[in-house]
Amino acid sequence: MTQAYNFSAGPAMLPREVLLKIQSELLEYQNSKASVMEISHRGVDFMEAAEKSEQDFRELLSIPENYKVLFLQGGASAQFSMVPINLLRGGLKASYANTGHWSVKAIAEAKRYCEVNVCTDSTENNFTNIDDFQNWDIDEDASYLHYTPNETIAGLEFDYIPEVSIPIAADMSSTILSRPIDVSKFGVIYAGAQKNIGPSGLTIVIVREDLIGDVVKQQPKLFDYSTQAHNDSMFNTPATFPWYAAGRVFEWVKEKGGLSAMQTINKAKAESLYRAIDSSDFYSNPVSTRYRSWMNVPFLLADDKLNITFLERSKEAGLLALKGHRSVGGMRASIYNAMPKEGVEALINFMNNFEKDFG
Ligand SMILES: *Cc1c(COP(=O)(O)O)cnc(C)c1O
Repeated sequence: MTQAYNFSAGPAMLPREVLLKIQSELLEYQNSKASVMEISHRGVDFMEAAEKSEQDFRELLSIPENYKVLFLQGGASAQFSMVPINLLRGGLKASYANTGHWSVKAIAEAKRYCEVNVCTDSTENNFTNIDDFQNWDIDEDASYLHYTPNETIAGLEFDYIPEVSIPIAADMSSTILSRPIDVSKFGVIYAGAQKNIGPSGLTIVIVREDLIGDVVKQQPKLFDYSTQAHNDSMFNTPATFPWYAAGRVFEWVKEKGGLSAMQTINKAKAESLYRAIDSSDFYSNPVSTRYRSWMNVPFLLADDKLNITFLERSKEAGLLALKGHRSVGGMRASIYNAMPKEGVEALINFMNNFEKDFG
C-alpha cells in the first residue's frame, strides 16, 4: 500500500504507528491467547488496558482529581441529551452559544428538556465569525452554558474559554487533545472519539464530581452520569476495542511530547495551509482570521465547476476525503493530530499545481 494522507473529518486518520502497533497485537493481546476484541471487559488484561488508557488521558490533559473520566457509547450526540439531563439539576433553563452545525443540534436536543437561551448566534454570518464575548446575553437563570469550542463543519474555533459563574459544558469532539486546555474551567467536557482520539464507538466525558448524581428518576439510568461514574464505565459492556485503541493513541501523543508539542505542530500545520489559501486568488476561506480552526480547514475553489476534477486528481495523488460538507461546499481538509506535517505539505503542493493547471 502506498502512503496516502486521509483528510476525513471523521472517522478520521489514525497515526500510522498506532495502526501498526494494533496490527502487531491484534491476534493475541498481551498473553491472553485471544484478541483484545474477544476478551472480557472484567478480565485482568482488559482492566489493565482500560486503567492505563484513563491514566494517560488524565496525564495528557492534566485532569484534576475532582473530575471523573467516563468511557461511554452513543457518540457526542447522546451527550446532547445527557448534558441537560444531568446539568439542569432542577433548573428550567440553559444557555447555548450557537456557532455552527453542531451547536444547532445540541440546542435542538436541549429544547426537549428545558428552555434554551441562545446567548450568541452566528447564523447571520453563516458561522464564519463569533460575536465578542462582552456582547453575549447569558440568562441569569441558566443552569449551565453550553458551547462548541471547534465547529467541525464551518471550521470555526474559539481561541478562549468564556468566563462565567455557571458550569460550562463543551463539545470538544473535534478539538480535544489538539492543544492543552484548562479542564478546571469546565463542568463537563465531552468528545466523540472518531476525530482526535481513536476509532468511532467511544465517547469520552470529563465531568466535575459535584455535578454528578442529581437526575430525576424518570430518565434512563444509562443517561445518568452517576451510573457509569460509580461503575468505572462498566455498568454494561463498554466499547472495548475503541477504548483499547484510544489508549494506544494516548501513548503515541505522550511519546510525541504531549499536548504542548501537539499545539506547536498543529498551529504550524494550520498556518501553512491558511497561508497557501490566502496567498492565492484561486482558493478562499471565509472564516474570520481570529477564529479559524486548527483542525478543520474548509476552502472554496474560485470556480465550483472544478470541484469534481479537484477531488478526482487529489485522490489520484493520495490525498483522500477532501470533499467539503454539503452545507459549505468546496473542500475541507481535516488535519487532526494524526495528520503529519508532510501530509499538509503534500496538499499545499497539490493545490499549487492544480491552480497552475486550471487557475
Ligand atoms: C462529529 C461531531 C459530532 C457528532 O458526533 P457523533 O459521535 O456522530 O454523535 C458532534 N459534535 C462535534 C463538534 C463533532 O465534530
